Amino acid sequence: MTIHSVARETIARLQATASLNATLAWSEEAITRQAAELDATPAGPLSGMAIAIKDNIVTKDLPTTCASRILEGYVSPFEATAVTRLRTAGALLACKANLDEFAMGSSTEHSAYGRVLHPLDPERVPGGSSGGSAALVAAGVVPAALGSETGGSVRQPAAFCGVVGIKPGYGRVSRSGLVAFGSSLDCISPFGATVDDAARVLAAMSGADPLDATTHALPPLELADARTDLKGLTIGLPREYFPADLDPGIRAGCDRAIAALRDLGAHVREVSLPNTGAAVPAYYIVNPAEAAANLARYDGVRYGVRHVGPEGDLRALYRATRGRGFGAEVRRRILVGTFALSAGYADRYYARAQAARRMVAADFAQAFADGIDLLFTPTTPTPAFRAGEKLDDPVQMYLADVFVCPSSLAGVPAMSQPIGRSEGLPLGGQLIAPHLGEATMIAAARLLEAALDPVAEVR
Ligand code: GLN
Repeated sequence: MTIHSVARETIARLQATASLNATLAWSEEAITRQAAELDATPAGPLSGMAIAIKDNIVTKDLPTTCASRILEGYVSPFEATAVTRLRTAGALLACKANLDEFAMGSSTEHSAYGRVLHPLDPERVPGGSSGGSAALVAAGVVPAALGSETGGSVRQPAAFCGVVGIKPGYGRVSRSGLVAFGSSLDCISPFGATVDDAARVLAAMSGADPLDATTHALPPLELADARTDLKGLTIGLPREYFPADLDPGIRAGCDRAIAALRDLGAHVREVSLPNTGAAVPAYYIVNPAEAAANLARYDGVRYGVRHVGPEGDLRALYRATRGRGFGAEVRRRILVGTFALSAGYADRYYARAQAARRMVAADFAQAFADGIDLLFTPTTPTPAFRAGEKLDDPVQMYLADVFVCPSSLAGVPAMSQPIGRSEGLPLGGQLIAPHLGEATMIAAARLLEAALDPVAEVR
């Protein structure tokens, strides 16, 4: 199949799924032009793969808005390293995908450009913040997409939409060109229709980058682990991730996946990560603190939209631009973050959250030191919830992240894959690996994928 025909089909599918509101920008001209260029160059590892890009990752052809009014129409003068690497590998950039404003949220309801619909049930949310990317893969528009993870924003929507989402370890993929949110947490992360689709995208964009000093000084990830069973691997089930009130569908899906892991030869045993309960509270201090610092740059002078206030001075410019440009959740994070960092409160909130973060990371380190190779958990406490259900209660929205936040705080690799459905809604299972353990995690995920019918009703 020529890239030209891939381009034509992608355009038709983007048009046919417009009602999902999953894209913020795409152009027929840009897709067709790329296809012509790709058809004239030698094939690369991602040739023929159309990829959607979350709109907080900068591209030169299309605007980057972060789904915020404050960046309406903004076009970056440079391209993210990850995007350049995907293009070089032969991928076709299909579109920019909708998200929660500045990647803050778990439902993609916080986009200034309207919510994204769940492809299987328009009343429900696709998860977030990378909900547009997840929905585009789930709807079959593209086989893969880029999202970003700060605290679960790829794994959680992957679980809700029934696709694969891989958060690499912190430092595996360059953050250059990813609009900064929580800098000590942010990871560009791929979605795929299958484990293989997501893993190939991850491999192509991974590796050291002089433009991001926090990347590991390592070559691109090699997916060399050609395991045919899981013999010799010990998989831990952290009891804190299987609470008594876990959704019965999620529990049934996990039970089936755990049985499959055993059948594949893995030794499965219960473990404890005792500080898990501290992760969401710690995350929702560390994250707003970093977000408040990062968002200080949107001042009406340097980027995007500018509103001059009534007094006409600099303060009025800041106030008018930021007041009109930022949505409610962004303001909430700036207020919480600024408070948590302010003199007199920093020790009480920020320092304690950092201490809790270290304890959460130490739990993982201890489990992996005690002979655990991988952890298996549910990705989310419930399947996709209804639009509007958590919008007025930020704490309930934050608690949608209970099972994905801890590994983000620890910086270790983790991924979600479909493990069945309950009442028609997809269920996600999560594997978590030690630092630099991506290849083993992906190899195990591939085997689990082959062993399970991902759309079977489990209850
Ligand atoms: N739900 C989390 C938050 O709102 C996840 C964000 C993310 O990973 N980008 O912060």
